[in-house]
Amino acid sequence: MLMNEVIKDLKKVLSSDNVLEKLEERYAYAQDASNTFVSLPDVVVFAQTIKQVQQIVHIANKYSIPIICRGAGTNTVGACVAEHGGIILNFSKMNKIIEINKDNMTAKVEPGVIVGDLQNEVEKLGLYYPPDPSNLKVSTIGGSIAQNSAGARTFKYGSTKDYVIDMLIVTANGEILRTGSNTIKNATGYNLGSLFIGSEGTLGIVVEATLKLIPKPQCSKVIMAYFDSIDDTVNAVTSIIEQQISPATLDFMDKNVLKTIEQFYPIGLLTDKEAALIIEIDGYQSSIEEQKNTITNVLRHCNSSAIQYSATQKEADRIWQARRSSMAACAKLKPTVTTDDVIVPRENLPQLIKGINDICNKYNLTVCMVGHIGDGSIHPQIPIDFEKEYQNYKSAKSEIYDLTIKLGGIISAEHGIGREKREYISKVVNATALNYMREIKKIFDPNNILNPYKIF
Ligand SMILES: Cc1cc2nc3c(=O)[nH]c(=O)nc-3n(C[C@H](O)[C@H](O)[C@H](O)COP(=O)(O)OP(=O)(O)OC[C@H]3O[C@@H](n4cnc5c(N)ncnc54)[C@H](O)[C@@H]3O)c2cc1C
Repeated sequence: MLMNEVIKDLKKVLSSDNVLEKLEERYAYAQDASNTFVSLPDVVVFAQTIKQVQQIVHIANKYSIPIICRGAGTNTVGACVAEHGGIILNFSKMNKIIEINKDNMTAKVEPGVIVGDLQNEVEKLGLYYPPDPSNLKVSTIGGSIAQNSAGARTFKYGSTKDYVIDMLIVTANGEILRTGSNTIKNATGYNLGSLFIGSEGTLGIVVEATLKLIPKPQCSKVIMAYFDSIDDTVNAVTSIIEQQISPATLDFMDKNVLKTIEQFYPIGLLTDKEAALIIEIDGYQSSIEEQKNTITNVLRHCNSSAIQYSATQKEADRIWQARRSSMAACAKLKPTVTTDDVIVPRENLPQLIKGINDICNKYNLTVCMVGHIGDGSIHPQIPIDFEKEYQNYKSAKSEIYDLTIKLGGIISAEHGIGREKREYISKVVNATALNYMREIKKIFDPNNILNPYKIF
């Protein structure tokens, strides 16, 4: 009954094709890329203007029902599942690039803009938006701000938080809050923007963002280096950095990933190796050869058993396409695939990678690891048969977090906490900090309507 009233009110502010209420329509929004939990929202709505977002918030407050923002639904932690029902607020129709300002090197965008689309547009003007979650062809700016997404280029260029200079936020009571300014620096009062970045839609709704851009590197080249041991792979990463070179990426694929990609999306990766590094170098054309030679010397010194270079942009794109398809390839091994996201100080990576393999062996699970290992970050991708292997997966996951913590790490580098990891957050965030987080949530969202009960 209550929902009938809610839907009636929603249809007063949105056209009826922007309000989905049929079971089969709602079912399409019952899951995200965490792939482990299904929960039906009561209704799915598409906003097209900031005013409509404010009106939707007023309706949610009137009936005390949750609003769960949704970009592309590709987060891997259950951050946008409607665990307690409510309204899914879809941003796919607020997807305009409002302005690219070449002189200021900024872009103003609506939250539903696809990350890869923005990158393509700014690159046409010789500019660059570096944050590159591996699924950048589908993930949105709003979702990547809410998760503080990072990616392969974070090692050199930082993550989403380093590029957001201003946002318009619709607050939980429907006001508009501006977090910053149209300037690259800002030391004017508290940095409220940093609270919303990574808050997983629990504190406010991003309805517009101004992003910093940088000059596009003139040239780039990809070096693929293969190794017969994990120790040599990690040593090579440290040794490259010691040469005072800062590659754009220092990305990792383990043996199982190399084999699985070759099985389903073959591009000629070497499958008899223990691991591979994807090292992208960029900068002035004149610097590329020198960087390549220095890195090649280091790789040889660190026992790399095969080294390949991209000759053209097309070849480089093929390598990245293969790396980015690793989760899709792993998904073909079992009915479901899960991906995780742990990070340790880089010197402890060999112990982490070996430990994750041991834990998964113990529970009879296959694990395929990729990672941005320049940062110390690893994504164990575990394909499972949900019905038969879920308990083993849960035990393995918990042990992986314990190992990560023992090695001085933390349980999310870039994917967030959402629903999937909230039971573990108190293992790594101290009680005082968690209490402050809860108080902040109460200040911004006193009626607990914004993505309630996520994170903690
Ligand atoms: C194959 C694959 C590879 C990936 N690789 C990476 C990677 O390399 N690096 C990385 O960091 N992540 C990665 N991810 C995770 C995912 O891409 C990011 O979390 C992503 O940026 C989420 O964007 P989205 O549009 O899908 O957001 P969604 O999943 O729709 O939403 C994510 C969160 O943002 C909130 N939200 C969405 N829009 C708004 C808004 N306008 N205002 C407030 N809150 C909002 C949602 O409520 C939810 O809490 C990967 C995921 C997949 C499936």
